Amino acid sequence: MRPLQPFAHRGRSLSLHTRFGLLSAALLAMLGVVLGIWSAGRIRRTNVDEAVRLINFTKVTAVYTLTHLDQAKLPHSARDQSKLGELIVDATLRSKRIAGLIIWREGARQQVLFSSGHLDETASVHPPKDLARSFAGRTTTQLISAPEKTADPGVARLIAQQGPVLEVLSPMPATANMPALVVQAFVPWRPVERNIVAQTWAMVWAMLGGLAVFWIAIYRLVARASRRLDEQIEHNRELADHDPLTGLPNREMLRRRVDKAIAAAKVNDRVVGILLLDLDRFKEINDTLGHHHGDLLLRAIGPRLAKVLRDHDCIARLGGDEFVVLLPDLPNEAYAEALARRLRSQLSTPFLLEGVRLDVEASLGIAVYPKHGADFPALLQHADVAMYVAKKGSLGIAVYNPLLDEHSPTRLSLVGDLRTALSHPEQFELHYQPKANMATGKISGLEALVRWRHPERGLLPPDDFIPIAERTGMIQALTDIVLEKAMAQQKVWKRAGILLPVAINLSTRCLLDVHLPDDVGRLLTHHGLTGSDLELEITESAIMADPQRAEEVLTRLAGIGVGLAIDDFGTGYSSMAHLKRLPVHEIKIDKSFVLDLEHNVSDAAIVRSVVDLGRNLGLTVVAEGVENERSWDVLNELGCTTAQGFFLARPLTAERVAPWLASRRLSAAAIPLARLEQARRAEVR
Ligand code: C2E
Ligand code: CA
Ligand code: CA
Repeated sequence: MRPLQPFAHRGRSLSLHTRFGLLSAALLAMLGVVLGIWSAGRIRRTNVDEAVRLINFTKVTAVYTLTHLDQAKLPHSARDQSKLGELIVDATLRSKRIAGLIIWREGARQQVLFSSGHLDETASVHPPKDLARSFAGRTTTQLISAPEKTADPGVARLIAQQGPVLEVLSPMPATANMPALVVQAFVPWRPVERNIVAQTWAMVWAMLGGLAVFWIAIYRLVARASRRLDEQIEHNRELADHDPLTGLPNREMLRRRVDKAIAAAKVNDRVVGILLLDLDRFKEINDTLGHHHGDLLLRAIGPRLAKVLRDHDCIARLGGDEFVVLLPDLPNEAYAEALARRLRSQLSTPFLLEGVRLDVEASLGIAVYPKHGADFPALLQHADVAMYVAKKGSLGIAVYNPLLDEHSPTRLSLVGDLRTALSHPEQFELHYQPKANMATGKISGLEALVRWRHPERGLLPPDDFIPIAERTGMIQALTDIVLEKAMAQQKVWKRAGILLPVAINLSTRCLLDVHLPDDVGRLLTHHGLTGSDLELEITESAIMADPQRAEEVLTRLAGIGVGLAIDDFGTGYSSMAHLKRLPVHEIKIDKSFVLDLEHNVSDAAIVRSVVDLGRNLGLTVVAEGVENERSWDVLNELGCTTAQGFFLARPLTAERVAPWLASRRLSAAAIPLARLEQARRAEVR
């Protein structure tokens, strides 16, 4: 059953300032209602008070009138009464603001001192019920809205004529020459009510206006603050989503984009491509030229790749020298491959970084949705496997292939296994590959090449674990194992009369270890060997990583008689000037220049110039990767002194070295020897 969606998730939630706007408007409306009710009450009271004040004024007029009559003769004669009446009517009633008036005087029986004509009946029979309280000093008011609301026929008539009236009873305390009086006045209510309504409306409009202005002001304030907050959040998200060095999207953002691309591809039946790009030998560039240039290069990669990408493609940096290109919305897998080729060729133009020209190559692994994975982690992992295959096989580009994945070691688990293996040195074995003097055919040395007999995966070649050991810092321990095994084996051979130097490969980190010469010296002594029994092969990049330190270490090694060779020559960036200063006796031309020598003219030119260089510097020049007779001949013509390769022999297990050497010693000549070897191999086949 599909779970019910909670309501809140269905619609987009309101923005902060909209919510604030609605809430504050509701609160202000409530405040408006309360204020309105209170103000309306006040307006009504004020108007009633106004009516009372009018009565007070009338009262004063009446009293003034009274005091001008013969005060002694109260109660007055009929003449006086009418005089008083005229005066009061003049002063008050004519203004029409008072509809009727009775003046009561206190006495044994309350008497009427004056009544306006139509209230005479009232005055004689219906003293107001609050009269006594009024004589006690209280002013009272009462709205009489309809004739039937009063028992007094005079008042009822008044109301019938005038409409509702406000009855006011207002006392006048007794003075020395006048008894206490109460003025009962009837104020027409309609004008008062009109006033109240008009004032209330004015108040309502003023208040609405004021509250509206207030609301707009704070709403704008909050909206602006909320917008700033949104911008800040957006900015923070930008920072969190991008790689600080290159400004490219990072893994997190890539993950979101890939998820989106996959969702769209599902609907549109399209393909999503993930290209994992890893620069070749970036570490070398970093080591050789320094981190500054390394960073410059990393920053330049994105813009360079962007040139061949579409607008909605995306380049992200995963870290280090690893980049991922996301290609959403492709018609098929072939497009991803074509784009990968274009990306790679984009990098083939050298980078010019602050005056330094850099040739950069990259290995690309391709995985596509849906064929190679259903989600981001699977696609990325498979692109990584493909990239690893591309790098290992120097293919440039590789598309993920589940078969390859099965057999290619998963790097992660290897790290743990390698750590364990270091305390089980028996898992490592050395195979020895001989090299021969081309002129005499004499074997001039053996190179120790390590293999790892992995308990589950079988025999692993060094390319599968040396890079891991280098990256994880396990290479020193591994080198110690190799040195120990090689020297122990060398001791055995020496006893058996095999007197050939054994060469060992050193990684960068080992070369930069200042303790290395002492350690090597100690091991040689321990095994009863001398420096000349050992050769060390180092790469150009190892030297360039820290030329001074390398020079120091090499000089001390040469001091104890150890032979030194530069391995993989031609692939690094070492300078002639440097070579001349180093105590090196041999250079080994990288096999990438040798393997295709017969067909590749530029390779031949490179080999020739290295041979010349070696001769000028008095160095032995070894060609590695000599696989066939044709290469052997070409190298011989080019003046190469020494050869190593499958044509001569594949790396041999330690036990097979002596028999192999013995079989060779039977023949005498140089090149025929190699041919003999070939014939022997043909026999074996
Ligand atoms: P390398 O030092 O260049 O060793 C030569 C590699 O070329 C060896 O591969 C060898 O088997 C192979 N090879 C020799 N002749 C031929 C040939 O005619 N054709 C072809 N195609 N290949 C040939 P291997 O044994 O797989 O070693 C690979 C690399 O691993 C070595 O390259 C070296 O850099 C590294 N390595 C091996 N042993 C050690 C070690 O004990 N320590 C360190 N740090 N690195 C090692
Ligand atoms: Ca080597
Ligand atoms: Ca090599």
